[in-house]
Amino acid sequence: MSRLVMKFGGTSVANIERIKNVARHVQREVAAGHHVAVVVSAMSGKTNELVGWCKEGAALYDPREYDAVVASGEQVTSGLLAIVLQDMGIPARSWQGWQIPIKTSDAHGSARIEDIDPKGLEDGFARGEVAVIAGFQGIHMPTGRLTTLGRGGSDTSAVAIAAALKADRCDIYTDVDGVYTTDPRIVPKAKRLDRVVFEEMLEMASLGSKVLQVRSVEVAMVHKVKTFVRSSFDDPADPKPGTLICDEEDIVEQQVVSGIAYSKDEAQITLRDVADKPGIAAAIFVPLADANINVDMIIQVVSDDAKTTDLTFTVPTADFERAKKILADHKTEVGYKELAGATDVVKVSAIGIGMRSHAGVAARAFKALSDKGINIRAITTSEIKFSVLIDAEYTELAVRTLHTLYGLDKA
Ligand code: ADP
Ligand code: ASP
Ligand code: MG
Repeated sequence: MSRLVMKFGGTSVANIERIKNVARHVQREVAAGHHVAVVVSAMSGKTNELVGWCKEGAALYDPREYDAVVASGEQVTSGLLAIVLQDMGIPARSWQGWQIPIKTSDAHGSARIEDIDPKGLEDGFARGEVAVIAGFQGIHMPTGRLTTLGRGGSDTSAVAIAAALKADRCDIYTDVDGVYTTDPRIVPKAKRLDRVVFEEMLEMASLGSKVLQVRSVEVAMVHKVKTFVRSSFDDPADPKPGTLICDEEDIVEQQVVSGIAYSKDEAQITLRDVADKPGIAAAIFVPLADANINVDMIIQVVSDDAKTTDLTFTVPTADFERAKKILADHKTEVGYKELAGATDVVKVSAIGIGMRSHAGVAARAFKALSDKGINIRAITTSEIKFSVLIDAEYTELAVRTLHTLYGLDKA
C-alpha cells in the first residue's frame, strides 16, 4: 500500500472545529487506500505562549527545560487529533517524538534529526492505524532528554518521517494554498507557483519565507521526498494540489526571478574608523564565529586618508546584543573608534535559478529601489539570489517594487 505523510500547521489545528476539518482530510486519504502518518504542530499561538513563559520564568533559562516546556504544544494536538479520528471510526494512535523514536542532536532548541526508526509506525500501519505524530520534537540519546527542532520545525519532522517511511508523498498543509512568488499577506498581487525548484525554495526559506522551515527543504532535497505545500482550508472533498517542490528539470517555463523574500531577523553593526591593515577582518570576525554568531552581509568602505576604514555587517537580531558586547570586549585588538548598530533594518532578497544565465539582474533592482527613494545600506549576491539591506519602514514598498520589476505580479 502507498504511504503518505500529511502535516498540519498551527492555524490548521487552532481549535477543535479545525482539528475535525483536518480529520476529514485524513479520512479522504485513508479512504483512497493510503497508509497515513499525520504530523501536527501546536495550536497557533501556543508555542509563542510557551516560549514567553520560559522567558518569564528566568531570563537565562536552561535550554533542556525550554524543550520540555515548548514540546508540550504538539503533545496536545497529536492526542486530540487521534481522539477525533477515533470518533469518526478511523483507528488512530498518537506518537510523541521519543516514542518513535526520532533521535536528534543535543542542540536543545534547534536540534537536528539524526535518525528515525520507522518500525513502530509500520507496525501501526499493519494494524490499520493512522499514526498521529507530534511534530517539532525528538529525543537525544543517551541522555534521554526531549529536544525541539527550532521554530517551524514540524515541517522538518514531516519531511524526515516521509524519508524514513519511504513515503510516496509528503503534503504540508498550511493556511495558504501553496508557495507564492512572495508572501501573499503583504503583496496581494503575489502569484501561486505550481512548482518551485528545491534550490530556490531553500533560498526563499533561508531568506525569510517562513512557509517552510529551511531544514525541511534540505531534507526533501537530499532524500528526494516528493513534497507539496497546500491548503488545509480547501474543502476536504475537493482539495487542490498546491505547489510541488521539484528538481530543475521538472520546470517547464523558467523565470529569471522566481520569488522575493524579506527577513526582519537582521541587525546591522558598523565599526567606524577601523585601522586599514592586514589582520583586522580576522580580529573582528573570528571572535564572532567562536561565539557561533553568523555574520551575513559585509561591506568595507575605504576612507579618504586610506589609513582607516568603516566596516558594516549584519548579524541575526537575536545575537545583536551579544555581538556588540564581544566587539566592545575586543575594542583594543580591533582598534575602532566607534561602534554603531541598528535593528530597524530589513533584508529583501530576489531569488531565481535564472540569474545564473542572466547578467544585470541585481543592477535593475538597485535602480528601481533608488527611483522609489529607498536607500540601500548593504548588498550581497550569490549565484541564484541577491539581497539588499534597507530601512525596515520600506519593507512593503521594496518587496512590491521588486515583485513588479521582475514581472511577478498576478494579472
Ligand atoms: P504553519 O503554521 O502552517 O506552519 P506558517 O505560518 O509557518 O504556517 O507558514 C505559512 C505562512 O507563510 C503564510 O501564512 C504566509 O504568510 C507565509 N509566507 C511567507 N512567504 C511565503 C511565500 N512565498 N508563499 C507562501 N506563504 C508565504
Ligand atoms: N509549534 C512550533 C512553532 O510554532 C513548530 C511548528 O509549528 O512547526 O515553531
Ligand atoms: Mg510553519
